[in-house]
Amino acid sequence: MNKGILLKSRPVGRPQISDFEFITEDMPIAETGEIILKTIYVSVDPYLRGRMSDAKSYIPPFQLEKPVQSGIVAEVLESKNNKFLKGDFVAGSLDWKTFQKSNGAGLLKIKPSEVPLSAYQGILGMTGLTAYFGLTEIGKPKSGETIVVSGAAGAVGMVVGQIGKIFGCRVVGIVGSDEKVELLKTKFKFDDAINYKTTPNIYKSIAKSCPDGIDIYFDNVGGEISDAVLSLINKFARVIICGAIANYNDTELPVGPRVQSKLLVKSALMQGFIVSDFSNKIPQAIVQLTNWFQEGKIINQETIVEGFENIPQAFIDLFDGKNQGKMMVKI
Ligand code: NDP
Repeated sequence: MNKGILLKSRPVGRPQISDFEFITEDMPIAETGEIILKTIYVSVDPYLRGRMSDAKSYIPPFQLEKPVQSGIVAEVLESKNNKFLKGDFVAGSLDWKTFQKSNGAGLLKIKPSEVPLSAYQGILGMTGLTAYFGLTEIGKPKSGETIVVSGAAGAVGMVVGQIGKIFGCRVVGIVGSDEKVELLKTKFKFDDAINYKTTPNIYKSIAKSCPDGIDIYFDNVGGEISDAVLSLINKFARVIICGAIANYNDTELPVGPRVQSKLLVKSALMQGFIVSDFSNKIPQAIVQLTNWFQEGKIINQETIVEGFENIPQAFIDLFDGKNQGKMMVKI
């Protein structure tokens, strides 16, 4: 039998296991033009939280009683589509199911011989591309500048910091544990890192780690961390709004400090973006990220949870910072 996970109810506040429903169903059968896919890796991502609510956004919400979808790496088990062969590997946005059929639209063929398959979920996938485009297209880093990145030990953040080092910048990461502070400083060669959960004064800690101020802020979290960073930006700073996980489970949006005068007096730019804004540049970006990865200039980090039944919990664990690097589930 095939297994699937449906969205049973729209989470209110923090998502719960009871918001998901596990089902079994008949195995899919391929018609002409279709392929049968066996799921290997399922990506869990903070942005899925937004799709679980019915608020209008850049991507349609998930429907109740329908499968949740995310980035999936899968193997082609059977093909009645001449673009795919049995044994091919693909990556794309697919249903949380152990097996499914597809007409192949939107699937990217990937080669396990070049890099590990799991890398297509993170460093060479959506989160690596998000880091690359946000930093290079909006941040436009210059050697000697200071970059602060929040959510720095996560899938996007760890790549941002490492690309910042390639550009010759001072890089400071903000994370939620001492273990992550160590990881950033030793494995990823960040210049400094701050544990926002234990520092008595986040503003003073960031100021100490950034003696020349902040030229680029890559914001993955929003909330009070970002309030502190914005008070320390330099003239012509670029503030890249990538995510706001600190607010994703809020039922009412808290009012923070007003940012207009901070941006005004520093002639600073603040810009949000969605990775798909740069979709026409994805092929070149993947080549660049693959080169850096193969040259050892960016190092990968993954948290891989085993077992289809653990997908919802792995997703919920993102909100407790249980991952280092890209969180995914191996089936
Ligand atoms: P991560 O791998 O960074 O996982 C989430 C991390 O967020 C956790 O590990 C945790 O780390 C941190 N976190 C959780 N709750 C809070 C909180 N209340 N305050 C501060 N930090 C918190 O996820 P991704 O790298 O996949 O995504 C990072 C951000 O980028 C998200 O906001 C996501 O929505 C966004 N994003 C945006 C895209 C775009 O196109 N704009 C595309 C992809 C992602 P810690 O232990 O440090 O607290």
